[in-house]
Amino acid sequence: MTVARAPFGDDPIVVAYGAGVDSTAMLVGLHRLGVRPAMLLFADTGSEKRETTEYIPVIEEWLSRNGMPPLTIVKRSSPIAGDLSLHGECLRKKVLPSLAYGGSSCSLKWKVEPQWRRVQKAFGWNPRTQSWRHGPFITKLIGYDAGAADARRIRNAAGKWPPGHRYRYPLVEWGWTRERCEEEIVSAGLPAPIKSACFMCPASKKAEVDWLARMHPDLTELSIEMERRAHARGLTTTRGLGRRWSWSEFLGHGDPAQIAA
Ligand code: SF4
Repeated sequence: MTVARAPFGDDPIVVAYGAGVDSTAMLVGLHRLGVRPAMLLFADTGSEKRETTEYIPVIEEWLSRNGMPPLTIVKRSSPIAGDLSLHGECLRKKVLPSLAYGGSSCSLKWKVEPQWRRVQKAFGWNPRTQSWRHGPFITKLIGYDAGAADARRIRNAAGKWPPGHRYRYPLVEWGWTRERCEEEIVSAGLPAPIKSACFMCPASKKAEVDWLARMHPDLTELSIEMERRAHARGLTTTRGLGRRWSWSEFLGHGDPAQIAA
């Protein structure tokens, strides 16, 4: 195993764990380096696919067996509306996840904010001094791989880090591509997880929507219903969950605007 030692410094290390290939490989690499993070955060949107949910106890067992910290599972609390999931919120509000409109508030509300709240509590964030109990920074490790797509995501994230955070991308520092990540997971004795994302994520490719329709027809039905409700509410800025295309039409269920009319 050759992996360059990443100098993560003395600040507390917090890992954003998504239960997908990249972030799982990052845990494998950190363990091999002897890096024991202070906290491993998993943000539960309530809209993950069953395979992802089922991977959580698998990785928890591996973490425990390898002397790594347990997962800290965080979730958006919405006591007023009582939404238990991102898809539940979308269906209730008759909207699509914000990514379908070119925004990012779905991820901010359901992933970034719950992690931020937990980290603030755990490490004592002082908004007045803009520092933590221990000092000015924590180091957040993000599992973006060394491929071109994640290079774009890293460029987009530049300058948008929450206060008191330094982001690091260990897989990029190690030169681990997605294929390498898959190999490392298998060689650590772990099953390979599926791509982690909400089942109705507007970033899904057509092949992924096809897969979902075959594996989880109940979830594609919910996604189509989401498009139908959004059109019933007057959606015009985007065609559907695919932005320029609708999942409903792609899967042969018709134009959601007409169905909703
Ligand atoms: S996975 Fe997709 S739908 Fe879910 S929060 Fe992220 S961008 Fe939004």
